[in-house]
Amino acid sequence: MGRKFFVGGNWKCNGTSEEVKKIVSTLNDGEVPSSDVVEVVISPPYVFLPLVKSLLRPDFHVAAQNCWVKKGGAFTGEISADMLKNLDIHWVILGHSERRLLLGESNEFVGDKVAYALSQGLKVIACVGETLEQRESGATMEVVAAQTKAIADRISDWTNVVVAYEPVWAIGTGKVATPAQAQEVHSALRMWLQTNVSAQVAESTRIIYGGSVNGANCKELAGQPDVDGFLVGGASLKAEFLEIIKSAT
Ligand code: PGA
Repeated sequence: MGRKFFVGGNWKCNGTSEEVKKIVSTLNDGEVPSSDVVEVVISPPYVFLPLVKSLLRPDFHVAAQNCWVKKGGAFTGEISADMLKNLDIHWVILGHSERRLLLGESNEFVGDKVAYALSQGLKVIACVGETLEQRESGATMEVVAAQTKAIADRISDWTNVVVAYEPVWAIGTGKVATPAQAQEVHSALRMWLQTNVSAQVAESTRIIYGGSVNGANCKELAGQPDVDGFLVGGASLKAEFLEIIKSAT
């Protein structure tokens, strides 16, 4: 079976409740391919999860942008996977580079989070990607493999994992990876999964690209054989996001 195209919208730390209602209404009015063809997941800030969940069209799913590494308890400011489940949220983004770099989340910590979230029945968008310095020193695949290995060491079932390759130098910079650059890493990541996990996991796991994806550059990226969709930041707050969803076909 082919890998279903996947488009995630990561709203990051943006929006007021009024703005959220506006974006959701734009999404709800959009004509996009059916959910048999493309899986769409919208990720608002925590505080807007119930609002978005209640207003969003039923063929789109909702994701949190993070969750805690274990069961809830005395962890001030954190949100547990159990709470997300309680709100009927089925997806979570983990290991985003903004959390790795600004909040010091290590590969191991992200791996632990992915394992716990999966154990609680959540589906995970697990982010990996190199910085500009790492790319320029030729370490891209080494970095991405180490990030993926920390996850692979802790899980056995990849059914509910989508891997998002997001080069840090492309995030929010307007400097998108070329289709060839994205394809090169996606294909190497798939090979890594084949060698280190299994051929079946390599074949079935969706590897999506993130970093300055927009309505103008999505089509060519989507045409790459190992690009199975997108994780979109800035453009997911605009009507343009609908064009990105349409690049599934
Ligand atoms: P961007 O962000 O589309 O604004 O570059 C992507 C992301 O961080 O997921």
